Amino acid sequence: MSASHVIIGDGIAGSSAAETIREADADADITVLTDEGEALYNRILIKEYAKGKMPAGPISIHDEGWYEERDVELRLNTYVNEVDTDAHEVYTHRGDTIEYDTLLIATGGTPTQLPVPNSDADGIHHFWTFEDARAIRDGAENADTGVVIGAGLLGIDLAAICGAQDVSAHYLMRGNAWWRYALSEEGAEIIHDALRERDVTPVFDSGVDRFEIDDDGHITGVTDPDGEEFDADFAGVAIGLNYNTEFLQGSGIERTDDGSIVTDETMRTDTEDVYAAGDLTYFYDVLLGEQAQNGAWGSAKEQGSIAGTNMVYDQGDGDEEATFEWVSSYSITHFDFPFLSFGHPTLGDESVERKYSDDEWRRVALMDGKVVGGVLIGDLAPQSKLKKLARQQVDVSGKEEELLAETIDLEAFEPMEAEQ
Ligand SMILES: Cc1cc2nc3c(=O)[nH]c(=O)nc-3n(C[C@H](O)[C@H](O)[C@H](O)COP(=O)(O)OP(=O)(O)OC[C@H]3O[C@@H](n4cnc5c(N)ncnc54)[C@H](O)[C@@H]3O)c2cc1C
Repeated sequence: MSASHVIIGDGIAGSSAAETIREADADADITVLTDEGEALYNRILIKEYAKGKMPAGPISIHDEGWYEERDVELRLNTYVNEVDTDAHEVYTHRGDTIEYDTLLIATGGTPTQLPVPNSDADGIHHFWTFEDARAIRDGAENADTGVVIGAGLLGIDLAAICGAQDVSAHYLMRGNAWWRYALSEEGAEIIHDALRERDVTPVFDSGVDRFEIDDDGHITGVTDPDGEEFDADFAGVAIGLNYNTEFLQGSGIERTDDGSIVTDETMRTDTEDVYAAGDLTYFYDVLLGEQAQNGAWGSAKEQGSIAGTNMVYDQGDGDEEATFEWVSSYSITHFDFPFLSFGHPTLGDESVERKYSDDEWRRVALMDGKVVGGVLIGDLAPQSKLKKLARQQVDVSGKEEELLAETIDLEAFEPMEAEQ
């Protein structure tokens, strides 16, 4: 009898698992469940749509025909509200029961709301889905003034959208620099200047005490904890994600306090026949030698593929097991210079950094003398060599100058292995 694989979530992790399973087993039953009303689209590109720079068409990755051609049952607008791991059953909000041999949880996260008065007012946007992007585009097109909250990789997208849509904005940050866990003030200043050029003004040591609203419930501004007021008819909030795992309450699947799902390096959870992939995993990172988290498109795709391979393997239909071993990268394309972070730029016990010009800067994060991540601004050429050093866990102690050389010479770090 053919195995039945059920995947919850049609983001890049879930979809890539479905594709991998089908490639490995032509006979398997594959069901993909998603609460969204559209099949997989490119979440990375929805910001370009919201900026008004890209039409909707190219953002879609798979239409429903893609699933039909592969004999994958896709159920749109289907929210999973419970899983019984003993009975091997999944329950949907429509009252359907779906049995599984293997189950993949790839439900990602939902943006967190600020716990302040009026945080659900009209005109305040969170950014995760294509639906959000449509609302953000509309909102920004009709706004003159804005605020952005959340000094990280998603917050900067909202700031760039304000810039592109001619919304004069204040970008309120808790600390003294954008993404202060990954960049020093010197590196962040390059970003601050680029924001200012787009009429987005960084405001440091700030935040939101409350949103101000008019009689119709639409935002008119923000008051920060010092009582300073900023006018805004548009607000973008990106302060983190709540992992979509509440529906697993009582399932016995191990989760952390923040709701992410604990897996090993094969994307297996602690529960038999249950796997997890994508943003919501707290996975064993073989390169770090410890559990880690990673919210990036490429790593979600790879985790989905690893999970799919192992789901098939565990049903006796595959040739080989697979292990997740990956140095992720995340790039920002909003400015005149390129920006890329890789690996775990906010981890490490040490870092080295250098500014090369007004818009060229590099930082490499190290843990126990090994490269674990970094940030490159302006010149991305060193990325492949730095990622190779991270993948091969080369001891780079005492080689700070070599890591910061304009052109990295890998021979300085021998012995290194050849990679395919
Ligand atoms: C605006 C934006 C810009 C980004 N830019 C970049 C970038 O430049 N580079 C980069 O590497 N990464 C970027 N990311 C992050 C990247 O998109 C994510 O890391 C990736 O999409 C995670 O994929 P996933 O499959 O784990 O989760 P998701 O894409 O979140 O997919 C999970 C799916 O599961 C569905 N779901 C949730 N709960 C249920 C349920 N109970 N029942 C049914 N379905 C459910 C959700 O609706 C969703 O469709 C960006 C993200 C956003 C929002």
